Amino acid sequence: MPEIYDLHTHSTASDGTLTPPELIALAAQKGVGVLALTDHDTLDGLDVAQRTADAVGLILRTGVEISVSWGGRTIHIIALGIDSRCEELRGGLARLSTYRRWRAEEIGRRLAKAGIEDAFEGAKAFSNGRLIGRTHFARFLVRKGYARSEPDVFKHYLVKGKPGHLAGEWATLEEAVGWICAAGGQAVIAHPARYRFTRSKLLRLIAEFKESGGVGIEVVSGNHNRDECLYFARLARENGLLASVGSDFHGPENPWAGLGDLPALPAHCTPIWVDWEGRGSYPGIGNRSGKGFRDRP
Ligand code: AMP
Ligand code: MN
Ligand code: MN
Ligand code: MN
Repeated sequence: MPEIYDLHTHSTASDGTLTPPELIALAAQKGVGVLALTDHDTLDGLDVAQRTADAVGLILRTGVEISVSWGGRTIHIIALGIDSRCEELRGGLARLSTYRRWRAEEIGRRLAKAGIEDAFEGAKAFSNGRLIGRTHFARFLVRKGYARSEPDVFKHYLVKGKPGHLAGEWATLEEAVGWICAAGGQAVIAHPARYRFTRSKLLRLIAEFKESGGVGIEVVSGNHNRDECLYFARLARENGLLASVGSDFHGPENPWAGLGDLPALPAHCTPIWVDWEGRGSYPGIGNRSGKGFRDRP
């Protein structure tokens, strides 16, 4: 049976709820063979994750999910197989980290104006002193009773037109892909269906992405339904992109994206791992689970 790949996951190094060792242990328990830890804009979890992976015999791929401002929006670019010592990558992520810290304080100020006190301190407490993301604000606001669920907090407080929103000023596409290439990694467009781009905008993104050195796109994603998966499988093939597979797991409490719990790549996709040493070099092999798709709530 083909191996289970899950190449998009989060830990407490960013906005996941499991520590890297807990994530690796759960992945091993779920039968995942190859896992990438792809925290938002940080490499902090990778060393400890590698030690745990070695101990349990799971293959870990280094990774990071980089925030990018493109076409007036924030999009995410996944890096796989990077050398985490690369200074160019580290320097770029350090800049994003400084911006992210300022953004968190600014979100706190804006929420204060809307009558929500101490949101920055609250989100910071949820982040355990690490990178602060909107998810940490969402957890704090749910705890304080401002909304029933994290998606509800986003809807009412953190998205465009709502009090805690501000437009991101992240890396450019060219910068992010450049850092990934400098670190010897593969750049992959994360959860493309989430952006709701028109086809022409999507093709423009892919053209610029490839021009910068990008090579892959997520076809199977915890964020994609079956139609979206088939659509992006075709788009990948037509545009010469490798296909990646990732749950976008943030923790066991999110029912829509189980760790390693993903359908197989559609036939005729070339998997992102096609050239990985000692790993399946046959197009079309994929996840063994054959699980069905679930729509996100
Ligand atoms: P940030 O990078 O701090 O802007 O946060 C982005 C993260 O917020 C994503 O990776 C998701 O984990 C989370 N997120 C974004 N939109 C939503 C939503 N509508 N509901 C729940 N979580 C969301
Ligand atoms: Mn996240
Ligand atoms: Mn993302
Ligand atoms: Mn993610």
